Amino acid sequence: MQILSDIAELRTTLRQLRSGSERATHRSVGFVPTMGALHAGHRSLVQAARQRCDIVVASIFVNPTQFAPHEDFSRYPRTLAEDCQMLEAEGVDVVFTPTAEAMYPPGASTFVEVEGVSDRLDGASRPGHFRGVATVVAKLFHIVQPGLAFFGQKDAAQVAVLRKMVRDLDFPLEIIVCPTVREPDGLAMSSRNRYLSAVERRQALTLSRALHAAEIQVTRGEHRASALLQTVRATLQEEPAIRVDYIAAVDPDTLLPIENVASGALLAVAAYVGTTRLIDNVLLAAATGNTVVPGKKKS
Ligand code: AMP
Repeated sequence: MQILSDIAELRTTLRQLRSGSERATHRSVGFVPTMGALHAGHRSLVQAARQRCDIVVASIFVNPTQFAPHEDFSRYPRTLAEDCQMLEAEGVDVVFTPTAEAMYPPGASTFVEVEGVSDRLDGASRPGHFRGVATVVAKLFHIVQPGLAFFGQKDAAQVAVLRKMVRDLDFPLEIIVCPTVREPDGLAMSSRNRYLSAVERRQALTLSRALHAAEIQVTRGEHRASALLQTVRATLQEEPAIRVDYIAAVDPDTLLPIENVASGALLAVAAYVGTTRLIDNVLLAAATGNTVVPGKKKS
């Protein structure tokens, strides 16, 4: 596995890897962008890329432009040595670890703004966040030129923004979305979980519990978004240490609110546990007319 931080060197290496066999023109590149502090959620993306592509590139870059000044950029966990061990064990070919100076040379003033969708959910709570995300991902796409790029459902609003960017700007690649990987007790894995104390870690479970309660309600035939949101809110309120940022039932592509989830919906939540902001979501499938009783197999 090669670990490269220079853009030109990465381009040369990828050119060589792409043309390194008799299947030269067909060697596909799969790309997994990350901010490091890797966990099993990231691992699942790398494994999906390894399964589907000839060459797997992962990037580790804590992108300063997606953090507001008061956010956790400086204390964001950085665990490069362990991250590289994990990526090597998963068969990654190249890890790209650029510096902020390389990604944003002095005077850089070009940004990618995906209007509308970037102002919803996390974009509403974190103004400018998705401008930073779209800009860095667009740059990484230009540098790596993957055929497939892998992202987690965990960051559902990010998926909506990046899908729209790829469509609007005709990036020649496909975005593959992988399911959220959870701890055995249901907590969605996140690099930020390591900020949580033991007590907060228990409190944080309320997020997945609240979403699950709404999911069960849907299987019993409740399709009104207002009722589902009320269930999520009530469950979160059972844990006084939690401060809700947003609870939303939206269209997964536009992130606009919907009133009825019968044709599918994204149910998403963001909340603070102590000073740590956590997000989680579930994708509600379109109703089929069959009700599924939790715990029983669908016939
Ligand atoms: P991050 O390092 O937090 O920027 O995340 C890098 C990629 O990993 C993003 O596409 C995330 O959506 C994805 N990811 C983060 N946590 C999870 C998880 N628990 N399950 C699946 N994917 C995840």
